[in-house]
Amino acid sequence: MSCIFCKIVNGEIPCSKVYEDDKVLAFNDINPVAPYHILVIPKAHYESIIDIPEKDMEIVAHIHNIINKIASDKGFDKAGFRIINNCGEDGGQEVKHIHYHILAGKKLPLYEA
Ligand code: 5GP
Ligand code: ZN
Repeated sequence: MSCIFCKIVNGEIPCSKVYEDDKVLAFNDINPVAPYHILVIPKAHYESIIDIPEKDMEIVAHIHNIINKIASDKGFDKAGFRIINNCGEDGGQEVKHIHYHILAGKKLPLYEA
């Protein structure tokens, strides 16, 4: 498996871990664009949100639960934060293992479309 995020899940590539359970891993982005820039991924490999079958969608709810937990633990829940999921070519997705970016710790600029 050549997927870089699968290699992080199985320990082949190190990461700065923020949270882990049996289904989900969260770690600091290697190239942060905000004071907090955390990636949250399912341990199971799905290329993008469009590739998660309906029967497996509970993982998305679980990821959002974990995002809330991380926001509370890190203390940016009240100030606010942004969640980004880039999907596919036009969405600007570079790593083809679904991931949610959490950006926080500063007033974020409005995004462009
Ligand atoms: P995308 O553009 O696919 O939504 O975002 C991929 C993100 O993964 C980028 O923000 C990039 O900095 C991050 N990234 C790529 N390779 C690695 C890595 O090996 N380790 C970590 N921690 N982050 C990575
Ligand atoms: Zn993967």
